[in-house]
Amino acid sequence: MEIIEKAPAKINLSLDVLHKREDGYHEMKMVMTSVDLADRIVLKTIEGDRIVIHSTNGFLPLDQRNHAYKAAKLLKDTYHIEKGVDITIEKNIPIAAGLAGGSSDAAATLRGLNRLWNLKLTKEELATLGEEIGSDVPYCIYGGTAYATGRGEKIQQIKDIPQCWVVLVKPKKGISTWTVFENLSFEQLVHPEIPQMLTAIEADDYSQMVNSTGNALETVSAVKQPDIKRIKKKMIQFGADAALMSGSGPTIYALCKKYSKAQRVYNGLKGFCNEVYLVRTLK
Ligand code: ATP
Repeated sequence: MEIIEKAPAKINLSLDVLHKREDGYHEMKMVMTSVDLADRIVLKTIEGDRIVIHSTNGFLPLDQRNHAYKAAKLLKDTYHIEKGVDITIEKNIPIAAGLAGGSSDAAATLRGLNRLWNLKLTKEELATLGEEIGSDVPYCIYGGTAYATGRGEKIQQIKDIPQCWVVLVKPKKGISTWTVFENLSFEQLVHPEIPQMLTAIEADDYSQMVNSTGNALETVSAVKQPDIKRIKKKMIQFGADAALMSGSGPTIYALCKKYSKAQRVYNGLKGFCNEVYLVRTLK
């Protein structure tokens, strides 16, 4: 038997960091939505009690460091499953990009194995398990548009955003999430207007939504990766309705209501960066 699960990327419409907690995590507030740039996870039963990972991407770890492996191991250990599984990851989401690719692969593996092994776990149960793998995994279990709090693991699903086009640009030079959080200086953070964002989404108000976007980590990442500011500027010059960083970066995305504008931004940035994607928001 073979199970196929889509693992979509996410973008942060809002991202705020409130303070560092005693347990070492940061207290966050985020509004996230999924886009139709997705990995494809193929799960197959194999002989023996083992987990085997394959991937189309040569840069991914294929052992216990892979988030899909962690997801399979967690389910096997928690529910005493003595079966083997082969996991193929068709990678389309850029790695270490601020798009939660690894978390989405883990979530898709949890959802898919729930079906393959007929475990009948609810989304809430899968999300609780996912917290052990990473803060973004619970969101990726649900997908859609959500308001996330805590370290990002407390999920409240909200109304879908007004559909629009998204141009994603991943600059060549990466930045690690760890470096960004280590270099946080709370006095310098620019906090986004999250209540305004939530009201805009509730009211289906695209203009207010694009005006309320913001990522508190952007100034920190922009110091390490100067292309962030340049790409944002170009996106706005080419007609984007909004341009900002996703997660801790380095991916920058533009929102455009009109396809013609999105194409203009896409074509304009294509000449400047290698990794450029034109996608839609997902319902
Ligand atoms: P987030 O937005 O949740 O911070 P990200 O999009 O910035 O995540 P990922 O693509 O999830 O970053 O990759 C982060 C690290 O996890 C990389 O160093 C990568 O090698 C490792 N990793 C392990 N498994 C996976 C996977 N299935 N897909 C992508 N990266 C993975």
